[in-house]
Parts: sequence; structure tokens; C-alpha cells
Amino acid sequence: MRTETIDSTVPTGDAAATPLLIRGGRPYGEDVQDVLLAGGRIQAVGTDLELPEHTEVIEAEDCIVLPGLVDLHTHLREPGGEEAETVETGTRAAARGGFTAVHAMANTTPVADTAGVVEQIARRGDSAGWCTVRPVGAVTVGLAGERLAELDAMANSGAQVRVFSDDGKCVHDPVLMRRALEYVKSFDGVIAQHAQDPRLTAGAQMHEGVVSAELGLTGWPAVAEESIIARDVLLAQHVGSRLHVCHLSTAGSVDIIRWAKQRGIAVTAEVTPHHLLLTDENVRQFDAVFKVNPPLRTAADVEAVREGLADGTIDIVATDHAPHPRDAKDREWDQAAMGMTGLETALSLVQLTMVDQGRLSWRDVARVLSEKPAEIGRDREQGHPLEPGSPAHVLVWDPRPMRVADPAEHASLSRNSPFAGLELPGSNRLTVLGGRPTVRDGQVVRR
Ligand SMILES: [Zn+2]
Repeated sequence: MRTETIDSTVPTGDAAATPLLIRGGRPYGEDVQDVLLAGGRIQAVGTDLELPEHTEVIEAEDCIVLPGLVDLHTHLREPGGEEAETVETGTRAAARGGFTAVHAMANTTPVADTAGVVEQIARRGDSAGWCTVRPVGAVTVGLAGERLAELDAMANSGAQVRVFSDDGKCVHDPVLMRRALEYVKSFDGVIAQHAQDPRLTAGAQMHEGVVSAELGLTGWPAVAEESIIARDVLLAQHVGSRLHVCHLSTAGSVDIIRWAKQRGIAVTAEVTPHHLLLTDENVRQFDAVFKVNPPLRTAADVEAVREGLADGTIDIVATDHAPHPRDAKDREWDQAAMGMTGLETALSLVQLTMVDQGRLSWRDVARVLSEKPAEIGRDREQGHPLEPGSPAHVLVWDPRPMRVADPAEHASLSRNSPFAGLELPGSNRLTVLGGRPTVRDGQVVRR
């Protein structure tokens, strides 16, 4: 048994939670060790642990034990889009996916561009109680791309915003982007850019390439993403600030990030689960469930983003969970909304495309889906190692079951999953938030 001094500066979970012993699992997919949770923290990791009275035992043989997952890119849609998702349903979906924290994107109605709105979203997350909700603040007022929002007021609010993004829209004006990067330095914030040149993508319906030409759909060329990323890494270097690139999707984007990192530029990047698997060939079905922004790219791009994630060029996997009501998706392709749900299938997709292919270990998965996203978002409550003293945010994942994905089973209010009908590996045995289970055997449980 390992014993370590508990760092009392680390925030705790729920001290009154019933002690839990996760027995016989494999932390990080490595050696079998039991994990004891009590007092809202991890109390011990080892074998033959001494148990407090009334400890509940969870049998976790052959399961992987991971720190609770952290999503840097979630659309919860509340306020204003409650027919697609609410904080309540979106965080239930997150818990089912193994997440203990999500960063809620700012493109709500009203836009999350003031201290008042971000505090309201954080409070809604707290009262729902399924996972921590960290609001992302808008970079520009109303996402209009014209003047900076009150970034410092959001940073200094009760929500302590550290990630700012106009996601859904690109901060296209280079002067505004430069000012935003300069501004967030004072509170160690980061600008998360949705890299899309609006002029190069006017009217775009899918990736520009052979398939778009055959289908006669207006293309969204790779260069529209790559040119913005190239500009922004240079701006980040010039200003000496932190840049995060949302949902990177092309081989050229991976090359630019690799180049920037070699030069010591403070850039991080994310890839979505869907860009790790699906391609523009899926669009031939003309099912709008495959319509997403940035669009599904080519098989060569999929290989490049897998490679970039495996070699650390891409720092994290983020879902870009983008729920839409049925009537926004059940339309002709060119009329349908862009976006896919993803919280409840993310880890299965990462297992399928990366772990089962031998390209990431489970320890790597903890890095790209928990530790690094928490670090980028400056969330000191999440992403801790599975060690005594860490807050008890834990996921127990059974990698063995193969299950056909069925959005009707999802906790999300929306059903626009492109993985419906696909056989996916793995299932969530247990999610624990601050010492209390939020999910048992795949089902959310009232805390
Ligand atoms: Zn986006």
C-alpha cells in the first residue's frame, strides 16, 4: 500500500460520501490495484487496503480505472437552445460518457459574453450535479467579431473563466485576435480558435475534394482551416500568449501545429472523435447526421490526425458535442444544421480508433482526455493522477463489451449521433464525481 501526505490545497469532493472500494481494476490499464475513495478523495491505491466502516465494494475485474474525463469543447445549448439540450441533460450525457467536467461553449442565447451569463451557467451546472461545468467565455461581444467582450470580468467572476472562444465562428479579424491573445495573458487564459476563414468557406456544405465535386456540393477547403491556424500560431508567438486550436481536421493543420511546437510556440490542439473515424465518403449517403463543421475530411486526413494524436502533436480529444433537435437535422442536406452529439460515444471511439489499434495506451488516454484538457482549461480540480490525495473523480471502464450504438438510449436530449447502428467497444461501469457515483453500469444515478 502506498501512503503519501495529502495535499490539503487540493479541493475536495464530498466528504460525506460513502467510502467506495474499486476492487481488482487496472489503473491506467496497468497492474491490478484496488482504489479506495473516501472523504471525497482518493485515499489509497494498492492491494489489501484497510477499509473504513461501511465501505461499498465495486468489483472491477478486467476494467480500466481512469481519472474522470474532461471535455474542453461541449455545447450544452442552455440558455436559449433548450429544445436541443439543457445543462441537466447535457451533463447527464457527459457523466454517461465518463466525464466529470465539461467546458460549455459560449454560443448560447444570450451569448456567454458577460460575467452574469457565465456565472448563471456555472450555477446551473452545480445544481444539476452530474459533472463540473466550466463556462467558456465569448471572445467578442455577441460572437459578432467586432469588439472584445469583457474578458477580465468573466475571468474574475465566480465562474473564473480561463478559456475564451467564439466557437461556431472564427475570430477572423487579425487585429482582434492579436488583442484577445494579449488580453488573456494577465490571467493565464487561452483563446480557443474555431479556425475557419469565412470567405473561403462561404456557402460550404462539405469538405472540398473529389467527393464534393462528384456530389456537386460547395466545398469547405482544407486551406480555410490551415491558413487561420498558420496565422494564429504566428500571432501567438508574436504576442507570447497561449493559443488552443479547436477540432483540428486536416493533415496540413497537423503539420502546422508540429512546426509551431518545434519552435516552442505555446499552442495546443484538439481533435474530435468523429474526425478520428469518419470521412467525406460518409456524405454520399446524404444523411445530414454526417454534416458537421469542420467537415468530415479524407481518409488521408483521418490517418494524419490519428498520427498527430499518437505522437503528441495533437494534445487532446474533445467532443464538440453539438446536439440539434430533430427538425434541424431531418432536412435536405443543404438546409440541415451542422454538428453531431459525441459525449456518450467519445471514449468508445478513442478505444476503437487509437487504443485497439495500439496507437495509444490507456495512460495516454488519461492524458488526452483528462490531464491535458484540465491543464489547458486551468481547472485545478480535475485531471489529477490516481494517487492518494487527489479529488475522487474517477471512471471505471470495461473495454470488453461490443455494443451497437443506439442514440435512443442516450441521456442527451438530441439524437444526432453519426455512430447509430455502429458496433462500438467498451462500456461505462462507474463514474464518480467528488466521491459520489453519477453513473453505475451505464445508467445515471441520482446522487
Ligand atoms: Zn467549432
